[in-house]
Amino acid sequence: MFQPTRSWKKVSPHYRTLRDNQTLRAAGDNPPVCMTRYARQIIFPGIGESGQEKLRTAEVAVVGVGALGTVSANLLCRAGVGVLRLIDRDVVELVNLHRQVLYNENDAALGVPKAAAACRYLSKVNSETTLKPVVAELDSGNIGEYLNDVDLVLDGTDNWETRFLLNEYCRERNIPWIYCAALGSVGMTMNILPKDDAPCLQCLTKDNVIPQNETCVTAGVLNTTTSFIASVQAAEAVKILLGSPNVRTGLFTADLWNNRFKTLRIEKDAECPVCS
Ligand SMILES: [Zn+2]
Repeated sequence: MFQPTRSWKKVSPHYRTLRDNQTLRAAGDNPPVCMTRYARQIIFPGIGESGQEKLRTAEVAVVGVGALGTVSANLLCRAGVGVLRLIDRDVVELVNLHRQVLYNENDAALGVPKAAAACRYLSKVNSETTLKPVVAELDSGNIGEYLNDVDLVLDGTDNWETRFLLNEYCRERNIPWIYCAALGSVGMTMNILPKDDAPCLQCLTKDNVIPQNETCVTAGVLNTTTSFIASVQAAEAVKILLGSPNVRTGLFTADLWNNRFKTLRIEKDAECPVCS
């Protein structure tokens, strides 16, 4: 059986890397940022050191920390987003574990609130990210408090009522948000940007592009669908925070079972009560 020893610690490159990550900090930063942690994404041309610094000063709200929200929050925390607000009213249940990647059997047995369990998990992943758990259901009375001053909102919900609330709130305050949904083997996501010529969720649903009558309870969902589409959402989140020219327009859909991937152009509704 493999037994780590003092001599192994001396020679292991993994041990050296961990120790270096704890001690090597970029000079001149205030507060200091552990740049070696992010070395593999800083070297990516789309991000660089200036992009990493933008992520460090960003604040993102994830509304709904279920199958989608656990994946996007996990990725953004590891990417170095400075502040994450994780909002969810529910507690962890056993039926969540096949797709909600931040929870375990102990959380389910104890019925821990998802927002608290997610923050506890992520606090061990990246101590440089400030995590703000909110155990509540977002509604018109509290949305101003919970989404105040965020740079971006990610949709991790499973209901249209909250999405339309997000749509109106974010449009009114010029906050970008990212719609995301999954059902069966199909995932879809769309960036909803505060620009005059950009369509909103109301425009998207006008043409009945999206089936609204089925849920994961009735139709089921693959964990690969939720992880995949929430990863696409997180990629768009990073691009939006960095002001990248590569931010996607249109509705991206993926059917992982039938191997179909496409981006649909969505027209802005000139009569839209929210964005026109
Ligand atoms: Zn609209």
